[in-house]
Amino acid sequence: MLRRTKIVATLGPASERPKTLRKMIDSGLDVARLNFSHGSADEHRERARRLRTAARDCGRDVGLLGDLQGPKIRVMRFKKGSTTLKSGASFFLDSTLGLTDGTKKGVGVALETLHEDVSAGDTLLLNDGLISLQVDRVEGTRIHTTVVDGGILSDHKGINLKGGGLSAPALTDVDRENIKLAAELKIDFLAVSFVRTGEDIMEARRLFEAAGGNGQIVAKIERTEAVANIDSIIDAADVIMVARGDLGVEMGYAGLTGIQKKLIRKTRKAHKIVITATQMMESMIDNPIPTRAEVSDVANAVIDGTDAVMLSGETAVGNHPNKAIIAMAEVCVGAEKFNIPYTSTARRGKDEFGRVDEAIAMAAMYTANHLSVKAIIALTESGSTPRWMSRVRSDIPIYALTPHEATSRRVTMYRGVYPVKFEIDTSNPRSVYQAIFTKLLESGHVKAGDLAIFTKGDLDGVTGSTNAMKILPVTKAE
Ligand code: PGA
Ligand code: MN
Repeated sequence: MLRRTKIVATLGPASERPKTLRKMIDSGLDVARLNFSHGSADEHRERARRLRTAARDCGRDVGLLGDLQGPKIRVMRFKKGSTTLKSGASFFLDSTLGLTDGTKKGVGVALETLHEDVSAGDTLLLNDGLISLQVDRVEGTRIHTTVVDGGILSDHKGINLKGGGLSAPALTDVDRENIKLAAELKIDFLAVSFVRTGEDIMEARRLFEAAGGNGQIVAKIERTEAVANIDSIIDAADVIMVARGDLGVEMGYAGLTGIQKKLIRKTRKAHKIVITATQMMESMIDNPIPTRAEVSDVANAVIDGTDAVMLSGETAVGNHPNKAIIAMAEVCVGAEKFNIPYTSTARRGKDEFGRVDEAIAMAAMYTANHLSVKAIIALTESGSTPRWMSRVRSDIPIYALTPHEATSRRVTMYRGVYPVKFEIDTSNPRSVYQAIFTKLLESGHVKAGDLAIFTKGDLDGVTGSTNAMKILPVTKAE
């Protein structure tokens, strides 16, 4: 059985050796993530190059996702690298403090306007929520707090304001530079961090396209405001990421699972793509097997209908990057077996299709789910037809046949969609079906006699031209 749920994994020091990359790709890596929060431009260039070489060596299409840092607020540095905060002690944050002058009394912060966004009674969460500070008063740029939950605070740890409300815009100057880098690297997915509104996504897309980029835009939902503005964000984005790390700190972990389910449902209903991210197999940073709770978490995201599950530290800095991919792939397949098959689109019956190709995609899925079909074959330029198809729950593989590498890499993120490179011989359109069957027979995807559904245009290779569906039994070439 082919795995339908896709695996995104973050590249880092633990996963940059060519041999490790090849293993990870063979084990099922679908999309590799470059985290622009860490590493230099040259390191990202080198990682992208190695990833593409490894993908070519393995004969697989692997998508590349570039993840912008966004306005992640961090403490500056301590004289001694860290300090221990004791519960009940006083501690201040001050953006005008020297960059390396942190002590047990207080530390600098990277956001100049932080003091304007907080007031007495607010809770600031540091180091992914492990440390919490209650704001007592604000004097000039200095925020005086009392430590509620103490711990060791080291250089550059993140800060979140509980409940949200920080004014920082989604795109920083560093992000604007990294958007150019992302375009240079021809990345397939550009992820925008700490998005507030759909407008943030539109701006990122404008900048990316102006820099020559041609990829999908991923909106990371990790702020309270993003959950409130989710409809406009889904509208503006191609892909939604449930970024549970920062989201769980800002909104509290108790509501997170419900929010995840709601975001997945809404995104699928809007016929967009969704990634579930962060701490999915966190214990595998150290251990060779996941905990039962992690297994259950990944499986539940699959059952919720996520397109992809994501690994962060597990593959970037962990001890077992390849084992994490293997475990994730196994859990996905295991969960998919118990999936309740949906046989209709998430759209309500009274909704109208917007486009002819969308209507054909839906008709093909309805037919496939009610006929003994073994393969759905979409001849596609942009990947839209297989994307619509993949919004309908089904056990039948959807093969996206395209001559374009960018489309092949884009559909690596779509649940149940598998890219197949295919050049249509326009001089002899009649031979197209047999050529496709020969290709799928060779790779073992189908057997002679299986029924296959095709969606296609007039076989002239024009974007957006899918206008027909055809059902044929698979035949062997004479
Ligand atoms: P990050 O985003 O890993 O870049 O912080 C994901 C998250 O916050 O969950
Ligand atoms: Mn985050």
